[in-house]
Amino acid sequence: MDSWVKRYWIGGRRLPERNHYDDPVPKGRMEFSGAVLDVDGTVVRGNDPIPGAPAGYGRIQEAGIETLFVSNNPTKAPPAYVDRLGAAGYDVDADRVITAGTVTTEYLRRHHATDDLICIGAPGLLDQFDDAGLSTTDDIEAADALVASIDHEFDYDDLCTGLWALDRGIPFIGTDPDIVIPAPDRDVPGSGAVIRSLAAVAERDPDIVLGKPSDPAIAMVRERLSHPPEECLVVGDRLDTDIALGARAGMTTALVLSGVTDEADVAESDVEPDHVLDDLGEIGQLIG
Ligand SMILES: [Mg+2]
Repeated sequence: MDSWVKRYWIGGRRLPERNHYDDPVPKGRMEFSGAVLDVDGTVVRGNDPIPGAPAGYGRIQEAGIETLFVSNNPTKAPPAYVDRLGAAGYDVDADRVITAGTVTTEYLRRHHATDDLICIGAPGLLDQFDDAGLSTTDDIEAADALVASIDHEFDYDDLCTGLWALDRGIPFIGTDPDIVIPAPDRDVPGSGAVIRSLAAVAERDPDIVLGKPSDPAIAMVRERLSHPPEECLVVGDRLDTDIALGARAGMTTALVLSGVTDEADVAESDVEPDHVLDDLGEIGQLIG
């Protein structure tokens, strides 16, 4: 399968048509109006900027490209990202940041606004639910839905809670699919690990997993970045979240090798990025 066909059929789902013959520059530099930048592994590792990435971000800004930072971290709200990114040298406003917490909170507001939610997740996620006026409970028998997410305190009692609550057939919602996430020293378990543990004990899959590359995340990106998908570029270090989101949304994708993915992973994966860069500092190779 050549790369063009593969790109349009990722996940067995046909993506929006692009007029291939009118594409002015199918490879190499293109004019983009919007960009979606991943955070961890793409612009920062821990609290430090990835070498070259601040210059790449500056290049994107100089080109007048509207930028959104989109992270699958569900534990922090956008204002925390303004501080963290600002300290690492990226000047950004809160409305330019979307996290898995933002996407999950919005999804719950739309679909579970009056429900009592039982949450296995970090205090930072529960704070976001609280701020949005969502109702949470510890009552396994009364809960209307269960939300699962990264939780450093996750233990045997949580497995019991998940087993008993999910046995009642209530909706099972995950914040994001990341099995492992990068930490300053080495990768650590993420939301996907907690969600899969609960899925295993309850013997049922989640009804929806939010964050990248879910449909609600794509819808939120498209709402905030009001440019046609074919004028947008997605840059990230994960094939199954960042690149999959861009491919599913019909956007051009660039994988950076500064995070969790190496060239061997790219060769093995069904998800094929349009471009592969060592880091964001090389973005000048793609933008006009
Ligand atoms: Mg990342």
